[in-house]
Amino acid sequence: MRVMCTECGQLGRITKTNRMTAGVANLYCQCTDASCGHSWVSTLAYSHTLSPSAKRASDMAMNLARGLSPEAHGSLCHSVNERQQQLNVLAAQELDKPVVTLRRAV
Ligand SMILES: [Zn+2]
Repeated sequence: MRVMCTECGQLGRITKTNRMTAGVANLYCQCTDASCGHSWVSTLAYSHTLSPSAKRASDMAMNLARGLSPEAHGSLCHSVNERQQQLNVLAAQELDKPVVTLRRAV
């Protein structure tokens, strides 16, 4: 991450990071231009998610499923089972493929 000196516009160096919360940190910065010598504190803050973490996707799906009507939940179960069967077929096809080893000419 690059920080710029707010006084002279030269590149700054982050000398210390104070994590305040999971989404906010204070960055202690110094200008790299010795003739300037400015030092300052900038705040780095989480803004918003562009794509949800895959680590939380299954939790989110479980919570969404719990909020469905019984009919919608049954339809979801049917869809999940169909997809699982497709994945099982694909996994079995992968196991049947011959193992090919490529060797480079020396
Ligand atoms: Zn500066």
